[in-house]
Amino acid sequence: MATDSGTRIDPSADEVSNYDYQNETVARSGLVDDLQARVDGEVRFDEYSRQLYATDASLYEVLPIGVVYPQSTEDVAAVMSYCAQREIPVLPRGGGTSLAGQTVNEAVVLDFSRYMNDLVEARPDDRRARAQPGIKLGDLNAELADHGLKFAPDPAWGDKSVLGGAIGNNSTGAHSLQYGKTDAYIEECEVVLADGTVTTFGEVTREELRDRADPDGDLEARIYAEIERILAEEGEEIESHYPDLKRNVSGYNLDWVLDDAQDGTINVASLLAGSEGTLAIVTEAEVSLEPIPETKSMGLLAYEGLIEAMEDVADILEHDPAAVEVLDDVLIDLAQDTAEFEDVVGMLPEGTRAVLIVEFYADDEESGRQKVADLLADRTNGVNPAADPTADRTVVDTPIRAFDAMEAHDEAKREKFWKMRKSGLPILLSRTTDEKHGSFIEDTAIPPANLPEYVADFQEILEEHDTFASFYAHAGPGVLHIRPLINTKSVEGVETMESIADAVTDLVVKYGGSVSGEHGDGRARTQWNEKLYGADLWETFQELKSVFDPDWLLNPGQVVGVDAGEVESGAMPERARTVDMTENLRFDPEYEFDAGFDPALEWDNDNGMQGIVELCHGCGGCRGPQETTGGVMCPTYRASEEEMTTTRGRANMLRQAMSGDLPDDPTDEEFMHEVLDLCIGCKGCAKDCPSEVDMAKLKAEVTHAYHQEHGSSLRDKVFANVDALAGLGSSFAPLSNLATKVPGARTVLEKAVGIAPDRTLPSFQRTTLQDWFDERGPQIPADEAERRALLFPDTYTNYSHPEVGKAAVRVLEAAGVHVQLADRTDSGRPAHSKGFLDQSRATAKDNVEALVPAVKEGWDVVLVEPSDAVMFQSDYLDLLSGEDVETLAANAYGVCEYLDTFRLDEAADWDVPAETLTYHGHCHQKATKKDHHAVGVLRRAGYDVDPLDSGCCGMAGSFGYEAEHFSMSKAIGSILFDQIGESRGDTVVAPGASCRTQLDDWDESDGEPPHPVEKLDAALA
Ligand SMILES: Cc1cc2nc3c(=O)[nH]c(=O)nc-3n(C[C@H](O)[C@H](O)[C@H](O)COP(=O)(O)OP(=O)(O)OC[C@H]3O[C@@H](n4cnc5c(N)ncnc54)[C@H](O)[C@@H]3O)c2cc1C
Ligand code: SF4
Ligand code: SF4
Repeated sequence: MATDSGTRIDPSADEVSNYDYQNETVARSGLVDDLQARVDGEVRFDEYSRQLYATDASLYEVLPIGVVYPQSTEDVAAVMSYCAQREIPVLPRGGGTSLAGQTVNEAVVLDFSRYMNDLVEARPDDRRARAQPGIKLGDLNAELADHGLKFAPDPAWGDKSVLGGAIGNNSTGAHSLQYGKTDAYIEECEVVLADGTVTTFGEVTREELRDRADPDGDLEARIYAEIERILAEEGEEIESHYPDLKRNVSGYNLDWVLDDAQDGTINVASLLAGSEGTLAIVTEAEVSLEPIPETKSMGLLAYEGLIEAMEDVADILEHDPAAVEVLDDVLIDLAQDTAEFEDVVGMLPEGTRAVLIVEFYADDEESGRQKVADLLADRTNGVNPAADPTADRTVVDTPIRAFDAMEAHDEAKREKFWKMRKSGLPILLSRTTDEKHGSFIEDTAIPPANLPEYVADFQEILEEHDTFASFYAHAGPGVLHIRPLINTKSVEGVETMESIADAVTDLVVKYGGSVSGEHGDGRARTQWNEKLYGADLWETFQELKSVFDPDWLLNPGQVVGVDAGEVESGAMPERARTVDMTENLRFDPEYEFDAGFDPALEWDNDNGMQGIVELCHGCGGCRGPQETTGGVMCPTYRASEEEMTTTRGRANMLRQAMSGDLPDDPTDEEFMHEVLDLCIGCKGCAKDCPSEVDMAKLKAEVTHAYHQEHGSSLRDKVFANVDALAGLGSSFAPLSNLATKVPGARTVLEKAVGIAPDRTLPSFQRTTLQDWFDERGPQIPADEAERRALLFPDTYTNYSHPEVGKAAVRVLEAAGVHVQLADRTDSGRPAHSKGFLDQSRATAKDNVEALVPAVKEGWDVVLVEPSDAVMFQSDYLDLLSGEDVETLAANAYGVCEYLDTFRLDEAADWDVPAETLTYHGHCHQKATKKDHHAVGVLRRAGYDVDPLDSGCCGMAGSFGYEAEHFSMSKAIGSILFDQIGESRGDTVVAPGASCRTQLDDWDESDGEPPHPVEKLDAALA
């Protein structure tokens, strides 16, 4: 379909929408005025915006001074020089996905991700690209892919994190064996220095360095002088104290600069790698690129224990793999019990207690297979690889440790291996207890040969502290992710955390490793750098910092700091004090939680609703693009690119409101408007977020409490009772349909009820589905039928779209089902989505009482409207408890799900035209993983189907009808319209009634698209 929805709509630019994503309580308004006068970008110092930036993906929380979204280097320089004159700290920030707390500080935050996110220039012939720091690595690589090139470091969260953050953290990923870290790719950086000077750092010869150096000159000259001094005086200290590792991101990157200098040149920009925003602010970077590898092949080696696997790592490295990743028994067992991962973990040979996944890059498939064959011939006993091992293969003369092995050469199987490897994080981070798998020693790096002893000693430390952790991730370069279970809400928990970190630092030093091989120092690890590097290098770090940033304004206290004595003596400001890992914890012993109301829904998890409110760990997964966030989460962020509209933003604000960090209660008008109003309740986060933060359910709770406290609007009542209105509309059709077409009627509706004047309103049919069926009756006698189904005549199908219901009846009957219509009522969905939970519960109770007796007699319940089906299957379990509601939930099906689950469609005869259908599923179905059924049935019937990887259409029940939400609804819809434009399909199909309305209102619409069951009906032979 060659269409384009055109320019994206900016919801905040719509006057009716009245969304500025900030509240009125502004801190330091004089500062705001001054900064606003100096920058083109936005300045936000209100309470809500500051709280939004108080956290990242770490254990920490610090309220910043305010947030600026710069639009240019000039903006950054203006903020920096203004702040420098007043000694106000500044903190550059990208995606805020850091795990050690380096993205939170009491500072003016510069968020580069919003405006400074362009690729400036790609020079494929030179294998170079220049980009602004706020560009997501995923976007950068998407732009470079056409040239067969990529920015090689591949942090796992590269689709959510940005280039400036990758430089700040010296990031890399699973393929660091092949590519190294970000420092290897920084060619040049335009930077703003601590006094606001704009300059460029890049490669200089030693001579040039000396020429530029002047200890009494301007800031830049003093920086060159300090680098020259360190090279001249500290070389030996650096060589003897920096660990010999492929991956070490603790402290400053002095060993890299020293190595460089030995070749006669120094790239000053690479000193910024891993500096965590403490030395200078990057405003543009030139990076070198690598070709995208042609072919990848994988081997998986199975072991009886983690130590055996660790013993094998150094030997496997002799085979020159691109990645060696480990997964231990703790995760294998947890993944085995998780629906999402049981199939991939189920592939493992019996008795597997640890695996090493080994990936090779190759020029073609044959050589990829050969590399795996050679590995398996060397490192396993009696496993038959798919190719003959070569005669001159690498052979390591050590005992065989793996007891079995598998191979993956095609993409689908390789993806399964990677899925298995990545199963760890979501499982570990789903705990709703006060104990969490915290990140504070989660990425130590150890020379691979020392891993077995290190892991054994580490396990002892955990046992001594009465806790446990799993061991997974990048075994090849010796970087293990280890997150002990800790409760930082208790004094003992905090002490245990520090004690483990202390002991592990000793262990790391003993085995020649680093406290951070991946995620950086931040608040969690800065305090251990002195022990890691020794007092002399710690002092060198302080000196380097003091020269780059004389007043310690750039992300102060992190990577390096000064001790309390220097602060107490007045020699150094408080902000320069080395951050303490036990301070500023998000959950600390003083943390208190009070939702302010009693939950109205069932919360089937540890700690109930509080457990879910506290579940978001800030990873920023909800800031990603559609392809990498699981499909749906979070449509409002994708439409607005505002942190406030991410699931993370909402979860953070909710927790902060419920724990007293915000002046407002969650049920206050202001909070509802700024934080929750734009959540469209699509449920995307309930599935796509690694921790399954269910914001739709939380919003329902808070909205319910809001109604209790403040009452409800006419519009909310209208939408909650849409079933009764639709009944009236149908009785008076076609007159009722004409009423809204009377001139001025839409203006009245907008003013009186708040309904968007440009939205097409549903029309009603005089002859309802129920009328039609009453007259027609069932066509398949019950005693001849395979199954018996009660079709639920939901509001829209009954009154507005009876043709969908009729199609469902005909298709079900063609599939041999005896169909009756369930008694007429609604599902409770409209009241539920408006937060009228008692009303919704009463409807749910009525439906359970009416339908369960039939279900117990063998009837199934079938629904054509996905959100109603999910209401029965999932939301009813939140509203009611007991055997009956569980029985109904287990026996309710969407119509295509029903056909697919029991393969009923195979009994029907189809005569399908040559037509390709573009399938857009409903977000509620996606959230409950039921989206594939329609595609399966349509394909079996004979249709060619192009299923879109689409999220929510933006209508979200009544949301898209509401005047102030219309522009947001259209902005979300435009993402879907773009996807349809790129689809190869001839006809769009969508099971959701609201999705079909949104598609009907699309400028390029050919009319309302059909429900999939209508296409099935049309294809019945
Ligand atoms: C689930 C998960 C998986 C992860 N996997 C990996 C992984 O595989 N490998 C890895 O290395 N990391 C990983 N991380 C950590 C993190 O995602 C990366 O380090 C990432 O590169 C940080 O980018 P960001 O845009 O989020 O930066 P931020 O967190 O916003 O910032 C990171 C640091 O860079 C500084 N900074 C940001 N912009 C600038 C600038 N313009 N100038 C100067 N300094 C700046 C900040 O001050 C901060 O100190 C992971 C995190 C999560 C939550
Ligand atoms: S809501 Fe989920 S995906 Fe988003 S930051 Fe929180 S944990 Fe990560
Ligand atoms: S329910 Fe949908 S809109 Fe709301 S936070 Fe979750 S993903 Fe975002």
